[in-house]
Amino acid sequence: MNIQTIIKMLTDAGIEEREAKKEVKMLLEHFCNYTEKDEILGHPLTEEHLNIVKGKVEARLADRTPVQYIIGESYFMGEFFKVTHDVLIPRPETELLVTKGIEIIKENNLDSVLDIGTGSGCIACTIAKKTSATVLGVDISSDALRIALDNVTRLGINNRAVFRKSDLFSKIRAEERFDMIISNPPYIPKGTELEPELRHEPSIALFAEENGLQLYRKIVSEAPDYLNEGGWLIFELGIGESDAVKSFMDEYFEGVTVEKDLNGIDRIIYGKMI
Ligand code: GLN
Repeated sequence: MNIQTIIKMLTDAGIEEREAKKEVKMLLEHFCNYTEKDEILGHPLTEEHLNIVKGKVEARLADRTPVQYIIGESYFMGEFFKVTHDVLIPRPETELLVTKGIEIIKENNLDSVLDIGTGSGCIACTIAKKTSATVLGVDISSDALRIALDNVTRLGINNRAVFRKSDLFSKIRAEERFDMIISNPPYIPKGTELEPELRHEPSIALFAEENGLQLYRKIVSEAPDYLNEGGWLIFELGIGESDAVKSFMDEYFEGVTVEKDLNGIDRIIYGKMI
């Protein structure tokens, strides 16, 4: 057995070669402490390394569990976040959202951010780590919040990112105001057939009513009550949702802008309260 045999187990199961190689690399690094550096230095892979990775690949393929859940961690914007089946695995697309959010925060010296549907806390923690703003992350799921709390401790930013159980704005006090509201809400239209890996993620984090638009509509209509004057709202978008979300936002926000991801899909939208 060599590493190619293990990569082939994944590609034979229909996983793209690039993804398969990435996953094997992640497993080697996590379970065998064998890093890219070892590869560059020509350190040989032992039979024990290969057996460990093979076992993990078998578990991965048995029920198509995403590799990040097997490892229990996912890389996002320079940090490893704890993930379990209670939270969505942070996506590369969400890095675009957070990068833009950070740019707006820095350009406008924003101090306070509300992250709605914080999940693993990847958005809240990254903003707290990379800007001087304080972040409140809310989620309807206590199980998700437990993971977010572990992540904020891991990153050592406990006093700058805080969390609260809240169904959207339900537990935000009437007098609380933020300079920015950011969210990657569930946006897949309910009833959509998903690839097997996605079925391991919490459906509450994935699906939304109203063709995927329900949470955007609700958040947009309530956001003005919780934003400071000239505050910002920024979302990640599901495929084909930009026109509808823009029309919701145009009512209360100006300069509403849509930006595409690397695949040319409208992926983020932001605007400033009128
Ligand atoms: N905010 C989290 C993320 O972007 C979770 C989003 C969600 O569960 N819809 O990964």
